[in-house]
Amino acid sequence: MMSTLSTDRLDVVHSSSQRDVHSFRIAIIGCGPRGLQCLEAIFRRVEVSQLKRLHIIIFEPTDTLGAGRIYDPSQSHVLKMNLAIQYLDFWRTDKDKQTCRSMSMVGWLSQHYPDMAMSDQFVPRAIVGEYLHDCFKTVWKSLKQYAFIEWKRGIVQDLRQADQSWIIDDGLTAERFDHVVVTTGHEGIRASRISDRVREEFVFPVETQLSRDRVSPGTKILLRGFGLTAIDAILMLTEGREGKFVEGSHLPVYVKSLQEPSRIDIYSRSGRPMLAKPTAKMEPIQSDFWQPFKADLDGKLLRHGHLQFQEDIWFVVIEAAAALLNESGQSVTAEQVQAWYQGWSRYEMNFAASRRAMLQSYDVANGHRPKDIPFALGETWRKLYPEIVGLISHGGLKIESWSYYQTTQREMERIAFGPPAFNVGKLLALMRTGIVRYCKVPQQSNQDNQCDLYDVRLNAVLAAPQEFQSRGLLSNLIAAGVVQIEKTTNAIRINRDGGVGPHASGLSVFGRATEGWVVGNDTLSRTLHQHVDNWAETIAAELVKTA
Ligand SMILES: Cc1cc2nc3c(=O)[nH]c(=O)nc-3n(C[C@H](O)[C@H](O)[C@H](O)COP(=O)(O)OP(=O)(O)OC[C@H]3O[C@@H](n4cnc5c(N)ncnc54)[C@H](O)[C@@H]3O)c2cc1C
Repeated sequence: MMSTLSTDRLDVVHSSSQRDVHSFRIAIIGCGPRGLQCLEAIFRRVEVSQLKRLHIIIFEPTDTLGAGRIYDPSQSHVLKMNLAIQYLDFWRTDKDKQTCRSMSMVGWLSQHYPDMAMSDQFVPRAIVGEYLHDCFKTVWKSLKQYAFIEWKRGIVQDLRQADQSWIIDDGLTAERFDHVVVTTGHEGIRASRISDRVREEFVFPVETQLSRDRVSPGTKILLRGFGLTAIDAILMLTEGREGKFVEGSHLPVYVKSLQEPSRIDIYSRSGRPMLAKPTAKMEPIQSDFWQPFKADLDGKLLRHGHLQFQEDIWFVVIEAAAALLNESGQSVTAEQVQAWYQGWSRYEMNFAASRRAMLQSYDVANGHRPKDIPFALGETWRKLYPEIVGLISHGGLKIESWSYYQTTQREMERIAFGPPAFNVGKLLALMRTGIVRYCKVPQQSNQDNQCDLYDVRLNAVLAAPQEFQSRGLLSNLIAAGVVQIEKTTNAIRINRDGGVGPHASGLSVFGRATEGWVVGNDTLSRTLHQHVDNWAETIAAELVKTA
């Protein structure tokens, strides 16, 4: 259900006569970080005289607009970012321009949480949520000087086209809009689909799903997934229950609270772990080092649409990774990097190998061991990612090359975009105590026996971007043929300004629903994609045209 909010907190005061002048109506459906980015881009890109014509309605079920569900400020501080704060700056929209420090996350922290205001910190997601909500309040105030802006709390399910406009109908009222933006991200935080035979509980929201009522102290748990969500769940069940990690000689040491489960057995199809992100203790690499590789990739934009992932992109990545190791005095060839990668990605990994890989990445990340191939590959992927995103997005690859990219991207997610090193250390400490273990994928035929072995079965795998919420807004739009799925990537196909095409003019989609067609959406970075800014330019032009 939908309800209109005129909250004191947001200071929404408009008279009905004001409403009449604001004739160009925009709906923003979903106001997590990307919905907020749309509002900010509108304020920056549209002239004041045209802003006065805007009536913007935000539809969002959560209270903390800008933070949304993922950065909910009320969630536990055990749940940390996987990105250091030096990379977090809501106001930075251009990679070639720095913003002033006071506006960045580091600047904001020095005012609100001075203990955390160091650029290599990985802060709780809840605190990033507070920052994003503050950014939202600033944008709201700026827009409110000129435009008519409202927030309706609720979930939109029904959006339809009527003549030249769009109708949002909540069953009570039907509202007309000239432009609609869908920024519904994860559509809430949802689990991946599982077989109906398996009785598993999703781990989010962790506060209720993993509460002591549902998962009692001393229970035996079987946990599906070995990614960031699994790490969130494991830490909530241990550190989130007053367990303590104290400094040890090498790894941290876990001190039990006796409120945690007696055992958490984790399993995943590949068994491969996520590797630790480097810390500031590592020798930095000069930014000039990357220039020739970036230029090489950029040069290939001319063949966009005809690119082969392996020949055009991957070979540059492994060359750069080898060169990085050569810079640090190690004689490693691109062939050796490739051989390591093939060894890593080919087989299911057993517990001992997986633990060794985590431990090695932890040591490298903390500067206790020399840089190695997995670090070099991860660092290269992170540094060349903007160019890779530019080459692959919008159908840059030849169709036959897509599945090779997809498989590589999945592996590189583990190698390059893993958790902060301290969380890998905690996981290793829990493995050492025997609380966390890795087990083989339970066979379907064995499911009933498995149920006897475990008190609780948990699912820590998020719905993939292409698993749209059943009967949700996007599924409904796809079923109605309003938005189109691109066949190779199974993503919603959009233009460079987020528009879904001439058949549905006035509708734009940004973020996770387009993943694959647009690569690398699951990030707070605003410099990786220009779609939101392009969209605001389109709106600015349309306002001028219809003035
Ligand atoms: C558990 C988790 C941890 C993450 N950690 C990191 C991290 O550390 N660093 C990082 O860079 N990225 C992280 N991400 C990626 C994250 O998705 C992005 O950083 C960012 O949240 C994307 O913003 P968004 O606005 O596109 O989507 P979302 O944040 O998902 O926001 C979408 C909003 O739309 C609303 N909504 C959904 N459906 C409807 C509807 N039908 N009607 C109205 N409103 C609707 C939701 O309530 C939500 O507020 C994480 C993601 C998850 C799931």
